[in-house]
Amino acid sequence: MTTAQFEPLPDLAAAEPSTGTLVMKFGGTSVADPEKITGVARRLVEAQAGGNRVVAVLSAMGHTTDDLVRLAYEVSPRPKPRELDMLISVGERISCALAAMAIHDLGAEAISLTGSQAGIVTDTVHGRAKIVDVRARRIHEALDQDRIVLVAGFQGVSTDFDITTLGRGGSDTTAVALAAALGAGVCEIYTDVEGVFTADPRLVPTAQKLHAVSYEEMLEMAASGAKVLQVRSVEIARSHDVKLHVRPSFSSADGTWVREEDDRMLEKALISGVTHTREETLYRVTGTTASQLFAALAGASVNVDTIVQTGPEIVFSAPVDDRDATTDVLDGLGVEWSARDDLGKVSVIGAGMKSHPGVAAKAFAVLAEAGIEPEVVTTSPIKIACHIPSDDVDTAVVVLHKAFELDAPEAERAHA
Ligand code: ASP
Ligand code: MG
Repeated sequence: MTTAQFEPLPDLAAAEPSTGTLVMKFGGTSVADPEKITGVARRLVEAQAGGNRVVAVLSAMGHTTDDLVRLAYEVSPRPKPRELDMLISVGERISCALAAMAIHDLGAEAISLTGSQAGIVTDTVHGRAKIVDVRARRIHEALDQDRIVLVAGFQGVSTDFDITTLGRGGSDTTAVALAAALGAGVCEIYTDVEGVFTADPRLVPTAQKLHAVSYEEMLEMAASGAKVLQVRSVEIARSHDVKLHVRPSFSSADGTWVREEDDRMLEKALISGVTHTREETLYRVTGTTASQLFAALAGASVNVDTIVQTGPEIVFSAPVDDRDATTDVLDGLGVEWSARDDLGKVSVIGAGMKSHPGVAAKAFAVLAEAGIEPEVVTTSPIKIACHIPSDDVDTAVVVLHKAFELDAPEAERAHA
């Protein structure tokens, strides 16, 4: 039995710590219309006036990326991945160009750059490319000229000189990779929520905002359904020691810090949060070895999550989005396989679990009491994840959140 596997990381040259450099990333809802873009511009100019060298990474406006993907499929049932990347990478460029114009009108200097111009070099996997290098010379030059640098998120240029995109939510990864490469102490992730919560507040109105979570907790949360950060961005932050501050773009309030674990995190709460995904595909495969199967899936960049092997049968889960790629791999291997689409997953996550036994027992008891029977269970030192029927996911989140007393204000870790 294993758990979520995390990916190898780019070998970013160890940057000289540049304390004055601030990377600020704004998500799609924070730049959704001209007024909001002007607001972001104002915030960037203020940050520069406060003495920072400011690098901003912007997402595409509102639903632009979804609209572009839809447009592609209206033209072609199976768009060529290279051309799809050419198309969907433009959303971020629009945001950056507009923000640069707004900054000029406020009397400051700015320059917008595509990922490629900013020196974001990736591998050649279209649609889910990984950053392999950041060549930040042009950014440094612009910063030296007192410009605010706007970098189009979610994209880069491959080692074959094609435009690539980094997977949905990839602007987070652009921002963190830049923070690492520029030696920025903090990467600010501005978003339309107040921070990271103990559960999705739409499902659990009493969910509490967390003041701080460890990289490991955030990795597990992001990998198991918390949508606030792309998993890869957290991996890069952890390995390059970039502190993240996930904070609201609609106020100046503090959000959630993501950083190195410390003792207080371990002492305070047993569980930090309950995350969920409503849909995940669970595959059962026979007639191959684990090494052959997972090598083939990795080759197709399928994001395998849970893996369980008992005897000749291998069970694994993967996101619904990876269904086509997974099907191609399994058919290609000529193995016997089946898939279930009616399952989701609920996970309880917390660094405190390491030193407190009995969390799993309690989680199972709570689910059983609610009449919910897990199909597959997987664990890591700080996570217990249960695949359960999609229809039971909402209930499971609510009962677990309550049972672990996450709605009590003490569940908040009041330290910054
Ligand atoms: N615009 C891209 C997306 O929607 C990337 C991002 O926003 O991070 O996935
Ligand atoms: Mg996002």
